[in-house]
Amino acid sequence: MKIWIARIPEEGSHYEGDDPGSIMEMDAEPFIKRVGDVQFKLYAQHISDELVVRGTLAIPLDLKCARCSEFFSTTVTDSGFLRAYPASKETDSVDITSDMREDLLLHMPEFPVCGEECKGLCAQCGADLNKGSCDCEAGERPNPWSALDNLDL
Ligand SMILES: [Zn+2]
Ligand SMILES: [Zn+2]
Repeated sequence: MKIWIARIPEEGSHYEGDDPGSIMEMDAEPFIKRVGDVQFKLYAQHISDELVVRGTLAIPLDLKCARCSEFFSTTVTDSGFLRAYPASKETDSVDITSDMREDLLLHMPEFPVCGEECKGLCAQCGADLNKGSCDCEAGERPNPWSALDNLDL
């Protein structure tokens, strides 16, 4: 997204709308899928030799659950976007796309979970416990020490 400096009046400009999520180039991230439009509500001010941009960004997307590895829909919001760019009289426009991307990535949950009730995967067989219990739970859990019992020391 570009901010055109000549169009900013002295009191600043408000920008509100959305851009295609593809400009955020997040599809390459293994834990992100189905990126929606990035929504922005920004305020830009041209103060002497600086362009100051602040506001809120939000992007709907699917994140990979850290417990069960399934993707779930969520919206990542950054309400504290704030950047200052050098802007002299010769500067036409400032492209803030990469900074928007960086801020949104910083606001991704470190440990995304599809829901508090997510049971995750069985540590032994890897079955998704949200879809039903596996045989490990019903049957006897293999005891890591039982192999030692069979050792003839
Ligand atoms: Zn989950
Ligand atoms: Zn299991």
